[in-house]
Amino acid sequence: MGPFPPTLRHSEGSRVICRVIVIKMSLAEKKLIQRLRRLAKGGPSLVTGIGDDAAVLRVPPGHEMLVTTDFSIEKVHFRREWHRPQVVGWRCLIRGLSDIAAMGGEPLAAFLSLAVGSDVPRTWVDGFLKGLLELAQEFNVPLAGGDTAESAGGIQADIVVVGSVPAGKAVLRSGATPGEQIYVTGDLGGSASALARISAGRPVGAEYFRHFRPVPRVAVGRWLRERGIASAMIDVSDGLSTDLEHICEESHVGADIEVAAIPRAPTGHSKKLVSLEFALHGGDDYELLFTSSRPVPPEVEGIPVTRIGKTTVAAGMRLLDSEGRMKVLKAGGWEHFRHNL
Ligand SMILES: [Mg+2]
Repeated sequence: MGPFPPTLRHSEGSRVICRVIVIKMSLAEKKLIQRLRRLAKGGPSLVTGIGDDAAVLRVPPGHEMLVTTDFSIEKVHFRREWHRPQVVGWRCLIRGLSDIAAMGGEPLAAFLSLAVGSDVPRTWVDGFLKGLLELAQEFNVPLAGGDTAESAGGIQADIVVVGSVPAGKAVLRSGATPGEQIYVTGDLGGSASALARISAGRPVGAEYFRHFRPVPRVAVGRWLRERGIASAMIDVSDGLSTDLEHICEESHVGADIEVAAIPRAPTGHSKKLVSLEFALHGGDDYELLFTSSRPVPPEVEGIPVTRIGKTTVAAGMRLLDSEGRMKVLKAGGWEHFRHNL
């Protein structure tokens, strides 16, 4: 953790006030770092963690390093009235772990930069760290450093996750070829459905865990990479349509998706499933979307895997309904649903 940014207050006239604030925050930061040091567990890849100028990580021999960074911003990714601090912390880290999973990699360490306003109570920060470290421990990923600062408005957390993958073996978005099958793990739309229900004041049912406690598919990503099964892969963080478009664009292929094949998450308290709209465009599912020309089992590491369509020479994405009618599928992911927050 670096020093508290000295540039927080710029104006000459506020120099004295500035000094007071810096001293006050430095103490607060020191306490936070002490707490983090106490809470953060080490890991096999961590040589030196919190407390020095930089962390020292050990990357396994013959591996390449993966680095991903993701923001969690109040009123963009979460709301304090809807998401408990533990949930915000958990969901902050999953964004990074899920990206590493989508490369077929192994997470090695996480780094957190956290900016909170003076109105945010210490209990909120404690809860946030508790949720984040709970997920970190589940995946044996040490929190190896970060930074804290005072935010002028709203809570902002940036998570950096470092991972590794055997050299040349990272599963990229660009590896798909025409005529391959398209697969997705788990089910889709549950997270967006939960968010829609909360914003409408309705109770959340079967989709609860998909939004409040999603699990990164690290084991599935590793399994697919080790066997060379996935030719291209991405995690579904922005919604199926948007993330599939990323694969199509990077691989220069098109895609035909069968509506009936898309696994929809359960919703509410009946046996209903989420709408097609949520399954296609809802974000934050953290499932893996991949292409393959090899046989794929219906379940990998205990997670169902469903074939939903195929890649094509023809550019663009299309939806095939059960009567064989085809219509153009446009990307309409997370951005589309963000107005809920
Ligand atoms: Mg991603």
